[in-house]
Amino acid sequence: MTEYEFICPECDQQIDVNVPVREATLSHGCPVCGASVSSEHFVEQ
Ligand SMILES: [Zn+2]
Repeated sequence: MTEYEFICPECDQQIDVNVPVREATLSHGCPVCGASVSSEHFVEQ
């Protein structure tokens, strides 16, 4: 499964995520601070 690294633009938290978590984060925002994020904040591993 493809893994991504999420880097929050607001709180600078770096989190390794899989595809379902990436989708959830895009829908609901950063799991740490709740900031809205877009696909540019994910780097494919
Ligand atoms: Zn955040």
